Amino acid sequence: MIDSHCHLYEIPEEEWVDNGLEAMVCAGADVETSEKAIELAEKHPNVYATAGIHPEGMGKLRDLSALLEMTKKPKVVAVGECGLDTGSEAEIELFKFNINLAKETGLPVVVHCRNMFDRVFEVLNYDKVQMHCFTGNEEEMRECVRRGWYISFGGILTFKKSEYSREVARLVPEDKLLIETDSPYLAPEPVRGTRNTPVNVKYVLDCLTKVRGTRVEQITSENARRLFGL
Ligand SMILES: [Zn+2]
Repeated sequence: MIDSHCHLYEIPEEEWVDNGLEAMVCAGADVETSEKAIELAEKHPNVYATAGIHPEGMGKLRDLSALLEMTKKPKVVAVGECGLDTGSEAEIELFKFNINLAKETGLPVVVHCRNMFDRVFEVLNYDKVQMHCFTGNEEEMRECVRRGWYISFGGILTFKKSEYSREVARLVPEDKLLIETDSPYLAPEPVRGTRNTPVNVKYVLDCLTKVRGTRVEQITSENARRLFGL
């Protein structure tokens, strides 16, 4: 199994090291956490890093040129996470900076989108994309897929009230499906409410398997390897 999105630098190492996962993609959210993600990736063969700036990381902005240097490191497999929370001018500027960085380097971009699909569709003219922690509707999912983007499901998919998301997850083309934990956040059922760790990606996988009626472990790993070049 591959956890295609987690924040390992926020979890004690003993809680995720030697967990048997094939790979973990550790997402940076600002300059500082991107540096931490790279450090962990350089130390552990099954850890990969992303470098970018999340909307919430804006307050901690340092020298943006540092990010370009980071993306050149061999274990950096994507730009992000980045995206839109409120759609403010400043957020859009920052999002565009991340997108340009992805285009310049040819890396995929990891996108955080909370109810801002229209703006994301407007701004993001790029085809290598992971829509992380996807909670959109069927129409939004189909537009993402039409653009070649990958749809990544995390713990929210397993929550009792997420029936509609599971219905959307059933319809995603097999070759665009990814699984993730976003750990330490959003622990899935049946461990909801605890500190999440990458190994819990198995619960997301189980949920998807149930919903789709077919095991998607191999295909989601293949998809992650293809998108991130693992
Ligand atoms: Zn995240």
